[in-house]
Amino acid sequence: MAEAKPKKNPFQQEYGHFIGGEWVASESGETFEAINPATGEVLARVQAGNDRDVDRAVKAAQEAFATWGRTPAAEREQILLEIANRLEKRKEQFALMETLGNGKPIREPLFFDIPFCVDHYRYFAATTRMLNGETIPVGDDVVLIYHEPLGVVGQIIPWNAPLAMVALKLAPALAAGNTVVLKPAEQACLSVLEFVKEISDLVPRGVINVVTGFGPTAGAPLARHPGVNKVAFTGETVTGRLIIQYTSENIVPVTLELGGKSPFIVFPDCDLDQTIEGLALNLCVQAGQMCAQGSRVFVHEDIYDTFVEKAVDRARRIRIGDPTDPQTELGPLVSQEQLEKVLNYIEIGQQEGAKLLCGGGRPQGEQFAKGFYVEPTLFGEVKNSMRIAQEEIFGPVLGILRWRDYDRLIEEANDVIYGLAAGIWTSNLKLAHETARRLQAGMVWINRYYNFKSGAPIGGYKKSGFGREAALETVKYHYSQTKSVVLAFGEPHH
Ligand code: ADP
Repeated sequence: MAEAKPKKNPFQQEYGHFIGGEWVASESGETFEAINPATGEVLARVQAGNDRDVDRAVKAAQEAFATWGRTPAAEREQILLEIANRLEKRKEQFALMETLGNGKPIREPLFFDIPFCVDHYRYFAATTRMLNGETIPVGDDVVLIYHEPLGVVGQIIPWNAPLAMVALKLAPALAAGNTVVLKPAEQACLSVLEFVKEISDLVPRGVINVVTGFGPTAGAPLARHPGVNKVAFTGETVTGRLIIQYTSENIVPVTLELGGKSPFIVFPDCDLDQTIEGLALNLCVQAGQMCAQGSRVFVHEDIYDTFVEKAVDRARRIRIGDPTDPQTELGPLVSQEQLEKVLNYIEIGQQEGAKLLCGGGRPQGEQFAKGFYVEPTLFGEVKNSMRIAQEEIFGPVLGILRWRDYDRLIEEANDVIYGLAAGIWTSNLKLAHETARRLQAGMVWINRYYNFKSGAPIGGYKKSGFGREAALETVKYHYSQTKSVVLAFGEPHH
């Protein structure tokens, strides 16, 4: 029943940076290889950008801003709608590119990432018409409030969901009338480059620029470039801290979406089968390399044993393998580095005394030999103080914790440095709502995990960052600046 697997490499042999509407080589001439994480095969060569490439891109974006910043909202709306249409039309091809470039099972981009992106561009097309200001009469005087674009926005994104990350960044930036210099992650940038190629004729030259390369050599110069008026970053908390330092040099606003260690809270009255499916999703989506992964699974002691039994049974049935196969649920991790990090945490969990319930290593077999695969792994009897409960693992590894007292549960759920997301599973919606309000998390999903919606703000509390994406406030407050104009119609004060 599996469809024939496409074998052809859909990528060009080499990609340039995209600067000022042209595909150009790095000034240094340096390139690096983009690797398929399922096979280790080289997919293409991409440019290793440096500060000179970033400088060219920022200048192109500055030039383009002079006119793009003044385009009527209706024009930007149409462009965003057309971006959505183009992506939708070539959905299968883009899904394949996403899978080859980052290893995620093709069912994810096909049914989740790309529909999300398409909807996202449409949502932000609509926001172009909502950037109205306000009029405040004060006596005889009148205050006019405008939301104006910021200028050049530098955007640095990770590898775990390249096209969705582009959508989260690009859509609000364009909607508000900014120009963009985007630095995709070095581990997975091919789908991003192909996407930009697809839409490049829709916007004037220099409105969208892409510089590929590594964090310290291409990302840092972008974040600290004096011509950049705002930085948006998604990635690790440690890198986020550096980004704040860089942007402090030029005093520009920054939005950060960082790490997480989100609670996934199971009440005894939950629909157990649905909750177990939610758990499987939590293990599988992007092989667990999701900042919002519900990696601490709090299960009420009344159902703990049954839950664990069902969870292990489901985890053992997860179909792991070739990500281009539509049946595959769990693909490889993105890189050797990520593989080593995850295996190391599995080791740490065992040393800390957590009970390894299933998985725990690399799957056996020829088909897995060259890919960065890890088995779906569950730990039981995890304590919230353990490192595997406090630190972000970023793999198909979940820790199950036993809870009894509700107040203590809330305390423990909040007892991490992060505050990105949370999941709640119960048929008691009053209880779910109370719990949602007591959790320190920017996103709470009740009875369905990863239930992202355009319009529902994405972002974190605490060390998971600040600023919100995916919502009207994004375009109004994070991609625009506010100006008040006061008209004196009344008599002078003196
Ligand atoms: P991840 O674990 O998701 O790779 P990172 O924070 O390392 O998280 O990377 C996210 C993005 O940040 C990538 O595009 C990466 O190249 C970039 N990056 C990494 N280090 C830096 C840095 N020092 N300055 C700017 N960007 C960086």
